[in-house]
Amino acid sequence: MGEFELIRRYFSPLAERHKSDLIVLGLGDDCAIQRIPAGCDLVFSIDTMVEGVHFPKDYSPERLGWRALAAAASDLAAMGATPVCFTLALTLPAVNERWLTGFAQGLSEASQSFGLVLAGGDTTRGPLTLSLQVHGTVREDSALTRSGARAGDLIFVSGTLGDAGAALDYLAEPHPTPDMAFVLDRYHKPRPRLELGRALAGIASSCIDISDGLQADLGHILTASGTGASIDPSKLPLSTALRNLKGSEAVGYALGAGDDYELCVTMPRESWREIPDSIRCQLTMIGTIEETPGMRLDDSAISSSGVSGFDHFG
Ligand code: ADP
Ligand code: MG
Repeated sequence: MGEFELIRRYFSPLAERHKSDLIVLGLGDDCAIQRIPAGCDLVFSIDTMVEGVHFPKDYSPERLGWRALAAAASDLAAMGATPVCFTLALTLPAVNERWLTGFAQGLSEASQSFGLVLAGGDTTRGPLTLSLQVHGTVREDSALTRSGARAGDLIFVSGTLGDAGAALDYLAEPHPTPDMAFVLDRYHKPRPRLELGRALAGIASSCIDISDGLQADLGHILTASGTGASIDPSKLPLSTALRNLKGSEAVGYALGAGDDYELCVTMPRESWREIPDSIRCQLTMIGTIEETPGMRLDDSAISSSGVSGFDHFG
């Protein structure tokens, strides 16, 4: 099968299945054409995944299709952007029809789920490598960035942390327990926080998605913003599965492990008081931004802020 037949068979149908009004010209020409609505900024990012580096050798192609697009979409979530389209540069060692069918299936499910339309790409031969460029839009000047955190802002994370990192210990487990299955699903099928990111655009002072672990990624916010932070480790949101599997080590996973694709956001306390409960209930307060550079782990980081978090059972 040649390059053009491969594109026609596996990728053109995917581009036909999921469409967008903003894609004036899709896959098939020298370039795609995307319309940018008046009053919007174009937000875009590219991510490369190499076999054996970013995903295990012989990893399920369906899962790879989903994960690759989820990881790229998570960057749009972190900017508060609305997803529009993506391009795929695919390097394959050989044409394996079973692999391509599975990969296109996982990619199609993710494309549908995230509202990202396949608008083109490139196909080459070589070691298995995927590069995905994603495009989104955001209202002019309202994109979330890493650089807006200010001393006194509160720090929040979405969902639970550490699950995907713990899953790495169970990838080869032939009979996973329900707790293992839970963290494995978090690793194989990340769900980027697109709606939450959009809801926080224009509200949060800074935002990043947690791909490399909370400490590393919050560290990027602190560097970009020229601030420091205190985190209360006892407040980190942990799943029951992670607690059951890792006991006292769970907090270490939540601080250091990557691949969760949750959001870490900061905002002034006034903003926190004003946002609707539907957003608040997705966030857990974990600390405060401070002037002194560096990250401190401090059990009183929140009680000293004088603000109470969202009561998830209230
Ligand atoms: P060109 O040589 O003009 O760059 P190509 O022959 O590489 O064009 O690609 C033909 C068309 O197929 C283009 O519209 C391109 O965007 C699309 N395409 C190529 N590879 C892929 C892929 N892996 N996924 C999606 N679209 C692809
Ligand atoms: Mg061309």
